[in-house]
Amino acid sequence: MLVCNVQFMPTFDELKQLIAQNNPGADLTMLELAYDFAAKAHGGQKRLDGSDYIEHSLATALTLAQMRLDLTTIMAGLLHDIPEDTNITIEEIEKNFGPEIARLVRGITKLGKLKYRGLERYAENLRKMFVAMAEDVRVILIKLADRLHNLSTLSSLPPVKQQRIARETLEIYAPIANRLGIGELKGKLEDLAFRYVYPEEYAWVVKLAKTRLEEQLAHVNAMIKELQQLFQENGLDIVSIHGRAKHYYSLYRKLLRKDMDIAKVYDLVALRIIVKDVAACYHALGLIHARYKPLPGRIKDYIAQPKPNGYRSLHTTVFCDQGRIVEFQIRDIEMHEHAEYGIAAHWRFKENGQPTEIQLPPDQLKWIKELLDWQKDIKDNAQYLQALKIDIFQNRIFVFTPKGDVIDLPENATPIDFAYHIHSDIGDKCSGARVNEKLATLDSKLSSGDLVEIIIDKNRAGPSADWLEFVKTNVAKSHIKNYVKRKRGGLLKFFNRQLE
Ligand code: MN
Repeated sequence: MLVCNVQFMPTFDELKQLIAQNNPGADLTMLELAYDFAAKAHGGQKRLDGSDYIEHSLATALTLAQMRLDLTTIMAGLLHDIPEDTNITIEEIEKNFGPEIARLVRGITKLGKLKYRGLERYAENLRKMFVAMAEDVRVILIKLADRLHNLSTLSSLPPVKQQRIARETLEIYAPIANRLGIGELKGKLEDLAFRYVYPEEYAWVVKLAKTRLEEQLAHVNAMIKELQQLFQENGLDIVSIHGRAKHYYSLYRKLLRKDMDIAKVYDLVALRIIVKDVAACYHALGLIHARYKPLPGRIKDYIAQPKPNGYRSLHTTVFCDQGRIVEFQIRDIEMHEHAEYGIAAHWRFKENGQPTEIQLPPDQLKWIKELLDWQKDIKDNAQYLQALKIDIFQNRIFVFTPKGDVIDLPENATPIDFAYHIHSDIGDKCSGARVNEKLATLDSKLSSGDLVEIIIDKNRAGPSADWLEFVKTNVAKSHIKNYVKRKRGGLLKFFNRQLE
């Protein structure tokens, strides 16, 4: 198997320097205490690859520091494996570092091995993690950083474990990173897992990409010069312009959708243009379209209409010289930070060392709340894991409300799923639907880009049990089931009263 380890030996000095540089006001004494505490707790522990355990804690903290997260999260990253792998308890962490750090560490500590086994343990741990994540999203950021390092040292584990961890990454953790808008981390996690889960496909994609990549990069570099001149002549200041190669796993997924024909993948290398504000984004787009002909139907304005995970940019694909086709991604600095770090960007420090005010966009985290709601309803763990894969991690489609809001749903979702996603009352009173301004049946499958309008019957008593046969999301399922149950209970009471 082709394995190239990301071999790096993180040092504490490196971590300290990085934090001091990002956050000059940070209290490094506390950080040192956390490091010493972790180093002592893990003592002479070694990982399976022979490295000192503390290297894993350091690597996790370093990833969090690279995302420029706050000191609390970074310290929790240093301490994250102590309760699970040493004799030191969470109470001792709390005594030394306070309740906030203890809460974060508790959030990623797995449940005791004795109570649950196998699938039960796996599902119960996920349930617990989601509860902790709903309370504080930083829990999942630590978990993702932890997973990134575990993947980069996966080659030293037995094959069965490699498979489990790599699969779980593709099925659960990378999709979470995606839904939180952390594009950079998502791409890294997927590429590290890809080679273990699909080794042959991985080798094939890498080989295929390499042949075209070099040639395309050369072309893109030539284009960059031309563009710099174009922007300069027109008085547009740009922050940076660079080519970015598509991650291997996302290229593989795209090839699956494009008959495995790499000629149909236009963004193998995309040109990314970073400018200083929104107006400059549109200015750049205008200049590009005046110079190169855009491909019809490929202009996407994610600034006016952000993706549900908060991603914003302008995308366009154009014909260049000699019939080449190139994709552009245009964004300002803030959009770029969000595209790379997503939700994590909310905890980043500003230049003056003060933490940015934490204001989470409610829409971006709505799915976590929904997940908590229905995870309470599904007691059976096998069923729970299945539901998790469909509701949260299946490929998502984006559809629009009549007001132009974007709603994301799993593939094959129906107008009923859409209605319940908007509001439970809309679901309950739903009597018909218009998709792209045409009447559609309630069980029709929605596609990305559809404009969906729900027709409501105010006199409707409630949902129909038949809907359970085609709805996809658990939000819809649990509302319908609850209604049916209540109605039966009500009827029973009614009959009982008649009998009395
Ligand atoms: Mn760990």
